[in-house]
Amino acid sequence: METRSVVSIYDTKALEAVRSRNAVQPHRMKLFRNALFKKACGRDEALDTLPENARSDFAEHVGFGFLELLERHDSKIDGASKLIFKTNDGHLIESVVLRPATGRTSICISSQVGCACYCGFCATGMMGFSRNLTLDEILDQVTQANRMVKPEGRSIRNVVFMGMGEPLLNPDAVFAAVAFLRAPQFFDLSASHITVSTVGIPHAMERFVETFPKMPLALSLHSARQEVREKLMPQARKYPLDQLRETLVRASASGKVMIEYLMLSGINDGEADLQALIDYLRGIPVHLNIIPFNEFAGSQLRGTAQPEREQFAARLKAAGFDTTLRYSLGSDIAAACGQLVQKKRRQ
Ligand code: SF4
Repeated sequence: METRSVVSIYDTKALEAVRSRNAVQPHRMKLFRNALFKKACGRDEALDTLPENARSDFAEHVGFGFLELLERHDSKIDGASKLIFKTNDGHLIESVVLRPATGRTSICISSQVGCACYCGFCATGMMGFSRNLTLDEILDQVTQANRMVKPEGRSIRNVVFMGMGEPLLNPDAVFAAVAFLRAPQFFDLSASHITVSTVGIPHAMERFVETFPKMPLALSLHSARQEVREKLMPQARKYPLDQLRETLVRASASGKVMIEYLMLSGINDGEADLQALIDYLRGIPVHLNIIPFNEFAGSQLRGTAQPEREQFAARLKAAGFDTTLRYSLGSDIAAACGQLVQKKRRQ
């Protein structure tokens, strides 16, 4: 007898074979996919959209869930929810659902277990790197979050690759995930509602911009002074600011580029830092986000106080830059990348 393996719901070729052997009409497949990805139905409800004779084969041979939701922490101050997922091989990863008062329900997702970039301001960077997440594991964060927010009358309309890991060091799975998020028959998100955030891997940034023109790209700059950036982010030694600037010019000609600037007291918030930033970005049409630092156990770094952050942002605006002063969401649930998993690992 032929033995059939379980195929992923995101493996379109293999799924087509399951459809074909059950002679499911394309319009029923459309109903099935819509139930899963647009209406955020559970597995059984989605299976009910298929002809009765096909349901058991689909139930047995199509994989729907790839992560186990281990914990959910809801912020009492701003509606953020931090989710801890467990992979099939026992790793923990995080996602954060954000419900800003004005704006779309968003999710910040992980692309790797841990991270090999070792940024000094990041709890994930302290964990080291375990492995890349698969396409299934990346997308399952969005699928499960969508089901979670459905009873609130919400749906995830914005996806940010800014959780654990450097997305552009897992390019194949991340690029494939972005294509699924865009695809009308799957998540159907518009290009402007998906953002990939990177520490600055120039060749991968160029590939991203070529593959997904008009899609926002966020660069974690954090300093426009090479020596300061190298101390904060070891990757900066490999990819110096000059090289990164050339890539930024090209990327900003294609789509929206955001510059993330985390403000760290006494490290990157002085007059020389401000001037270096202005000089570095002059002439490039970017949007600047000034971000507060979420302090965490094990880090000596301290965040810049709010009045100084406001002043820094005002000076950037006065210099002609499109600048947003960000506030921390989910500060009571350790929403900064990697904090909760690090705590859980210690337990
Ligand atoms: S900030 Fe991002 S790239 Fe840097 S260590 Fe953390 S997860 Fe990795």
